[in-house]
Amino acid sequence: MLGLLVMLPLVLGAQQCPSVLDPAVEPRLACFVDATPACPPDRRYCVGLQLHLADGAEQTPAWMAAELEHAFKLFAPADVGFTVVGIDAISAEFAVMHTADQRDEVGRQQFTRGVIHVYLVAQLDDVDIPGAQIRGVHWRQRSNTDKRWIILSQIGSNVVMAHELGHFFGLPHSRYTDSIMNKRPREQPPWDARVFVPQELEIVLKQRDAMLRDGSLETISSPR
Ligand SMILES: [Zn+2]
Repeated sequence: MLGLLVMLPLVLGAQQCPSVLDPAVEPRLACFVDATPACPPDRRYCVGLQLHLADGAEQTPAWMAAELEHAFKLFAPADVGFTVVGIDAISAEFAVMHTADQRDEVGRQQFTRGVIHVYLVAQLDDVDIPGAQIRGVHWRQRSNTDKRWIILSQIGSNVVMAHELGHFFGLPHSRYTDSIMNKRPREQPPWDARVFVPQELEIVLKQRDAMLRDGSLETISSPR
């Protein structure tokens, strides 16, 4: 009887998020894989996101879904989609990221080529401005800058991952009024309406092809 009671949440979870039955996925994380949108079917390139959730961080599958939807919108002209291919938990020592050392350390063990690693944390301090927090960062491991990943704070809005993916696809910050890569405070256009401008798209396309060619990214042929 006790066994049945213990199994019940798993069975209920499996209806919503079948990954709960995958021994490689922690049950509490299963919905990040199953209840987030996969690559839109019209995309030629589908890139995997490997998520890592810090113990104590409060991002939810719905939060991640909103980040994905916005990234789909911005990367449509690049024919690129994204899909969550896995998630694991990382230790609470990374929930609050104070230092550059932590940003290096968080990805050091888990880095692999072919997918984009995305770390979900509670707090991400600005390492340049004491006391300030940032919402996301595209980080290069300082001892080997070919190894890079994205870190997202739970305080970020739905546009932050798309902005960091812009960096991952080779974009610096810019001065274009319509660009999501321009962080200068301005009312128009609103964050939701900011895009990659044509000059930026050109870079994204080049970087996309270069990363697919050298294996730092792989495209998934049959997203889940
Ligand atoms: Zn940036």
